[in-house]
Amino acid sequence: MAELFHSMMQFIVSLFAAGSIQSATPAPAEGPLPLQQSIPGGLTVIPVGYGIQPPAVSFNGQQVMVIRPDEQKPWLAMIGIPLSQEPGETSIRVGNKSIRFTVNDHAYPEQHLSVKKNHVNPSAAELARIRDEQAQMAAVYTHYSPARPWQPMAWPVYGEMSSAFGLKRFFNGEQRNPHSGLDIAAATGTPILAPADGKVVLTGDFFFNGNSVFIDHGQGLISMFCHMSVIEVEAGEEIIAGERLGQVGATGRATGPHLHWTVSLNNARINPLLLLSPWQKSKILAAAQQQNQEQAEPTETSHE
Ligand SMILES: [Zn+2]
Repeated sequence: MAELFHSMMQFIVSLFAAGSIQSATPAPAEGPLPLQQSIPGGLTVIPVGYGIQPPAVSFNGQQVMVIRPDEQKPWLAMIGIPLSQEPGETSIRVGNKSIRFTVNDHAYPEQHLSVKKNHVNPSAAELARIRDEQAQMAAVYTHYSPARPWQPMAWPVYGEMSSAFGLKRFFNGEQRNPHSGLDIAAATGTPILAPADGKVVLTGDFFFNGNSVFIDHGQGLISMFCHMSVIEVEAGEEIIAGERLGQVGATGRATGPHLHWTVSLNNARINPLLLLSPWQKSKILAAAQQQNQEQAEPTETSHE
């Protein structure tokens, strides 16, 4: 099974290589759009007009990404829906109008685990540190930077998904924050590669997340990589898809080496699988499903 998955991942890498050769000739298309899933933790795409300039779009008070992959077609608002969003009718602001859309309910699986008490309840000094780190992360997630060409994301590390996005987590019976990213199991030292172009905007050693790197991919699309053993980039660096960011580790509140990858769009943490190409997503899900039957041990105790 692992063999098969790895040869598949190599094929994915070769597909991306082929894609970059094609884009050497001028072409307006920048790859397939993200998959839509109008659920908490999902993403929905809404057409927002044919103007020369993209309209200003906001959702929950947060500026929204607007792209136009095809000039014959309207601008598209790409709306990240937070895990905390109540299912039902909601709306985006487009200029001075609003456009309604529906967020469907979704039952994410539950995960129950027992952890040592000192992992669950931080001390007063640790709480102060956690608050400071949350403020730094919030500044990154709410920042809106200029547009970059839209591109689907690549799988950032050579390894299998070990924990899915959105799991409802209970530690010693107490409900905690849901899993706001996905985990990929890999040995300490495995290189972590940028899933798309962007700019490194924050690095550091965080209480829960350990050594972490934040990349701004433009228009409110941010990636976070956690628990790294080594960070190999610095804030301010421009990064191209496939460039090394660092190495897999188990720093912060992790019980074993893995990569935790969060993707945030308009300050909503969303399922990173939606931003992969549909082909990649279906293969990765199939491999994860096989593995879930063996129930992988949880590798971390908290996030954010
Ligand atoms: Zn995780």
